[in-house]
Amino acid sequence: MAYKCPVCGYPALAREPRTAVNGGSYEICASCGFQFGVSDDDLGHTYDTWRTEWVARGLRWASIGVPEPEDWDPGAQLQALSANIATPTGQ
Ligand SMILES: [Zn+2]
Repeated sequence: MAYKCPVCGYPALAREPRTAVNGGSYEICASCGFQFGVSDDDLGHTYDTWRTEWVARGLRWASIGVPEPEDWDPGAQLQALSANIATPTGQ
């Protein structure tokens, strides 16, 4: 099962980014670099501000340890996110 990043739309998060019970997953999105439970809870970033900054930096692949997929298309990923931003994913 994979989950979609609510910041950038990356569809391959290993864990649900945030649950009511456990809070942030502490997973770092390989695409945009947001760490759920740290970037937000500890550092005060919102999904919107992080996304805006990520776009401003040119939609760059954030992870060093995870290789960028050859067919990665961050623009399409973002469009898919905005198209169904209120839809739960990972089911
Ligand atoms: Zn992301």
